[in-house]
Amino acid sequence: MTAEPSDPMSRVLNAGLDLARAELEGSHLDEDEVRVLELCDDIGDVRGVALHEMQQANLEVITTVSRDMQAEEDIKAWEEEQSRRCPSGGQDVGRMINIDGMDDWKIECPTCGAMWWGGSTVLPEHDKPRG
Ligand SMILES: [Zn+2]
Repeated sequence: MTAEPSDPMSRVLNAGLDLARAELEGSHLDEDEVRVLELCDDIGDVRGVALHEMQQANLEVITTVSRDMQAEEDIKAWEEEQSRRCPSGGQDVGRMINIDGMDDWKIECPTCGAMWWGGSTVLPEHDKPRG
């Protein structure tokens, strides 16, 4: 339980806020409750506060759900990228193949056989050949 505010006005407005929440949720208020609610709404806009609260709560639910979906998408995209990518990317494992009679060479990836003209033996990030 949270501590009850001690000053009477806060307690009245809190009670009014409870009524405003109940009204928003579709509860039936009796005549006295409606009168208290009307009064508190005049003093402290409790209906506006309750409505704002509800909108905030809904907004939080929506953003949480979309954040979870986003994370799932990211993981899927990452897994897909990993499955397409050759694990030798960024590794210093490239095989240099000198080309006879030319001042040129090729680099071959020992894992997937991808080839590049020239460059260093540190392999660039590259997709595995399909199939
Ligand atoms: Zn490779």
